[in-house]
Amino acid sequence: MIPSTFEYARATSIDDALTKLAAAGGTGKLIAGGHSLVPMMKLRLNEPTTLIDIARISDLSGIREDGNIIEVGAATVHHDVATSALLRDKCPIVADTAGMIGDPQVRNRGTLGGSLAHADPAADYPATLLAVDAQIQIQGPGGTREVPAADFFQGLFTVDLANNELITAVRFAPVQVAAYAKLYQRASRFAIVGVAAALEISEGSILRKRTIKCARVGLTGAVSHAVRLDGVEKALEGQPATGEAVAKAAQGAGADLDGINDDIHASEAYRRAMIQIFSVRALRGALARIST
Ligand code: FAD
Repeated sequence: MIPSTFEYARATSIDDALTKLAAAGGTGKLIAGGHSLVPMMKLRLNEPTTLIDIARISDLSGIREDGNIIEVGAATVHHDVATSALLRDKCPIVADTAGMIGDPQVRNRGTLGGSLAHADPAADYPATLLAVDAQIQIQGPGGTREVPAADFFQGLFTVDLANNELITAVRFAPVQVAAYAKLYQRASRFAIVGVAAALEISEGSILRKRTIKCARVGLTGAVSHAVRLDGVEKALEGQPATGEAVAKAAQGAGADLDGINDDIHASEAYRRAMIQIFSVRALRGALARIST
């Protein structure tokens, strides 16, 4: 289908984008990569009167280090996240996740901020941002605010973001012992189920046995929005950092979740089974990153 008519404006700065958004009076939409918004417009599920293009605002792109924090600009495309030497070195789970999104065309146009604002229930970044405990930076007419990933994802295509606000960046502390594992939907490569696990490991005193001090496990694809697997996180605390122990802790992963998706890609029962399997894969992937 052909979208309904709209005006197009290219923003030159964050302030310019916010001014243009305010001027559109609630019927304007930001566009970054257009890989989620344009399909919605073609289906007439979204009919903005003005598109404000933020893809070329230099302050919104790039990956930098600010002390012990890594900051990824919201308009950074998935390809740049996937190939970032800084992320590969300091927080490889984020680069891995970006590299598993879609295909090369999607990765060269789609952006981190677009993915978070759109909040597709099968998007990859949300699980990983929950696992690394990221903060979402937001700017609006009233100034800037920071929202923890755990509070940002609220429901189906619903996040803590007003229609006159813009995501500027995502910030997180580096996490080495972390991995993302997903069951791909074969055509789009969206996640049927995706699990991101981040572990904090302590060196034990007895025979230098390592144990899991704490864990954060994010899940996407399974319910209306990305959530933490609290039961698995609790079961991992204090356990030996071994493949057997994490597999045991992941038994029954997601069993307490209601509203598991049941669609043409996978039944509820299949997704339930896959949550456990991909939890174990993500946890074992994380253990493989413990430096010897
Ligand atoms: P756009 O389409 O430009 O915008 C999407 C929404 O976000 C709009 O509402 C827009 O107003 C808003 N927005 C954009 N930027 C901002 C900002 N900075 N602040 C506030 N609001 C903003 N995703 C996955 O996670 N995994 C996959 O495997 C995957 N496969 C895909 C396969 C195909 C064929 C396609 C077309 C898409 C796929 N995607 C996948 C989605 C892809 O990652 C999108 O690029 C992403 O979800 C949206 O990013 P975008 O920059 O294209 O956003």
